[in-house]
Amino acid sequence: MAPITKETDFLVIGGGSGGLGAARMAASQFGVKAMIVEAQRLGGTCVNVGCVPKKVTFNAATIAETIHQARDYGFSLQETAPFDWPTFKKKRDAYIERLNGIYERNLNKDSVEYLHGWAKLKSRSEVEVSLDDGTTALVRAKKILVAVGGKPSPPPADIEGASEYAMNSDDFFDIEKLPERVAIVGAGYIAVEFAGMFKSFGVDVHLFLRYDNALRKGFDPMISESLTKEYERIGIKVHRFSEQQKLAKDEKTGKFTLHFSEGTAEEGKKEGQVLEGIDHVIWAIGRTALTRDIGLEEVGVEFIDGTDYIKADDFQNTNVRDIYALGDVVGKAELTPVAIAAGRKLAYRLFGGEKFKDTRLDYENIPSVVFSHPTIGSIGMSQPEAEEKYGKENVKIYQSSFVNMWYAMMTSEDKAPTKYKLVCAGPEEKVVGLHIFGMGSDEILQGFGVAIKMGATKKDFDSCVAIHPTASEELVTMR
Ligand code: FAD
Ligand code: NDP
Repeated sequence: MAPITKETDFLVIGGGSGGLGAARMAASQFGVKAMIVEAQRLGGTCVNVGCVPKKVTFNAATIAETIHQARDYGFSLQETAPFDWPTFKKKRDAYIERLNGIYERNLNKDSVEYLHGWAKLKSRSEVEVSLDDGTTALVRAKKILVAVGGKPSPPPADIEGASEYAMNSDDFFDIEKLPERVAIVGAGYIAVEFAGMFKSFGVDVHLFLRYDNALRKGFDPMISESLTKEYERIGIKVHRFSEQQKLAKDEKTGKFTLHFSEGTAEEGKKEGQVLEGIDHVIWAIGRTALTRDIGLEEVGVEFIDGTDYIKADDFQNTNVRDIYALGDVVGKAELTPVAIAAGRKLAYRLFGGEKFKDTRLDYENIPSVVFSHPTIGSIGMSQPEAEEKYGKENVKIYQSSFVNMWYAMMTSEDKAPTKYKLVCAGPEEKVVGLHIFGMGSDEILQGFGVAIKMGATKKDFDSCVAIHPTASEELVTMR
């Protein structure tokens, strides 16, 4: 059967954070004839298997922690009833489904045409969409945006049994009951967020790192060291310098056994280690862009050398005229608000006329939060990055380490540390990096992010009167 042919001005491939941001802005703000193609569920990674269900789970974990701490404040709470994971999961799934519906209605409201199917470029201006009913549609578009996101990177192929039994972050959201023991391999956002949540629910958590600390990449060493130490303190078993050799399943119990080594040669590498009775082994070692086999190479779109990331300039242009790329596929800051902002700004630039011809997302000083236990906030340069850029002698560090007053009524084992660091550069002490580790960091960061985007100096910080008693007051009273 001949494919249905459609015409549009702006075709967006991928109905996730970036794609929805761009298509809706183009249609609602500028009346552009826009179309979006989504192969799975509207909302993309963030809504379905990322930020949203993760944050809801993090909230549940925070409640579990608070219930535990409540006794120290004089509440006679019984912690006998375990967390009802199946009920929680059902409610979380229903919430996500509601969001999927809201996203579809929003597309309707903004008059964005929505095709559910798999898109593949046929030429520089034509995309073939394999629709759910087995038919195809050929869409001719004046402009095409590629915002297809990514998927979890698989475990290394040489680990026996891993391709069969390993779970990834998508699978985390399918877990039906509270596990007793989990093993998490990885050292980034996802590994530490999952590890922290599981631990709060009372799960026996093993975190497998390739090196000495988690969050090494892109974080200040203070953050990286503090989190790893704190995770050990709360009872997460951190396996440093580990290598996994084999993952096996006990068919009788359904549980897994992980074979690994850990430690360095200098301190005595421990070979032949075995961890048994694991309910889930999750690899969280980064993500891979979904950019292959969708016709990009054929139409001449260039990739960043040796990766699956599309080469895009500061304005989200690829090397092919009228084909654009943004969000996780360009591998800059793989965060939802980054994808949304890039998408919206692209719509302004492409369709907003002369006034918006230079509109683009500024990728400098993007704040980010890790929903670990405790939370982490980070913006700007780490101390090593600043010292490299400005010279050690031109960088001044302000640090503070204290115990949040939240813990005033608690025994010492329950007290998590708070650590703050300001990285300042030049004689005017411009704050070029702010790194916070401790309760509430997730909510504290945004406002300080504004100050840093405005170019605040240490003096500006000091000129703001502290709010007492809070943790964040330490950021304006550092000496
Ligand atoms: P996506 O949201 O992944 O959307 C891409 C869409 O394209 C998908 O829906 C996909 O199905 C579709 N698609 C792919 N190929 C095709 C095709 N050929 N045809 C049609 N459709 C296609 N970020 C934060 O800012 N805060 C957080 O707390 C946070 N937590 C996270 C937790 C986890 C577990 C994960 C995995 C990610 C998290 N992120 C978080 C990152 C965030 O989810 C991503 O950065 C964001 O979703 C990227 O948006 P995007 O539009 O580039 O891609
Ligand atoms: P990340 O890129 O954050 O971290 C992955 C880390 O895993 C690497 O830095 C590396 O650390 C380690 N690693 C890599 N390969 C291996 C290996 N073979 N064995 C063991 N460890 C390995 O990836 P994530 O998957 O955690 O998350 C993907 C992205 O999603 C994040 O970068 C972030 O942009 C986004 N995200 C954002 C969140 C938020 O905003 N709160 C939450 C979750 C995800 P090392 O070199 O130290 O070994």
